[in-house]
Amino acid sequence: MSAFQPIHGQCECARVRYRVVGPAEELYHCHCLRCRRLHGALFATFAVVAREHLVIERGSGALSTYTSPHGEWHFCRHCGCHLLVDSDKRPDAVWYMAATLDGDASPGHPQDTEKHIFVASKSALATITDSLPQYAGYAPEGEAGSSKEP
Ligand SMILES: [Zn+2]
Ligand SMILES: [Zn+2]
Repeated sequence: MSAFQPIHGQCECARVRYRVVGPAEELYHCHCLRCRRLHGALFATFAVVAREHLVIERGSGALSTYTSPHGEWHFCRHCGCHLLVDSDKRPDAVWYMAATLDGDASPGHPQDTEKHIFVASKSALATITDSLPQYAGYAPEGEAGSSKEP
């Protein structure tokens, strides 16, 4: 963990910029309808990281919040880019959208935690072509980095 080099990401209009100083616990691609709608995409990719490892470097005042039953979704109110999700169920963690990382920055998650979840509600337009594990809903308890929220 001490070898992790800080990585950065930002919203599309660059008002909001963040830094991540520790590796993600897990990475997953969520195909649920909520994620599809909120992100305007076929699926959304979440990196889960300890809260103290994510720092908003600038533009926190530009963030707006949408509260769903599964957490608080923070997005830039200027460009609409979704950046972060908080959940009461794990106040020690934050979910950030790995697609907003700069360039080829990697979240540093253990490789065996990457997976597809909620594939039962996958868009007919989405074709999964990788060999990552797939789960109909959340990954089962006890698996490496079993996903809870969102
Ligand atoms: Zn923005
Ligand atoms: Zn989802």
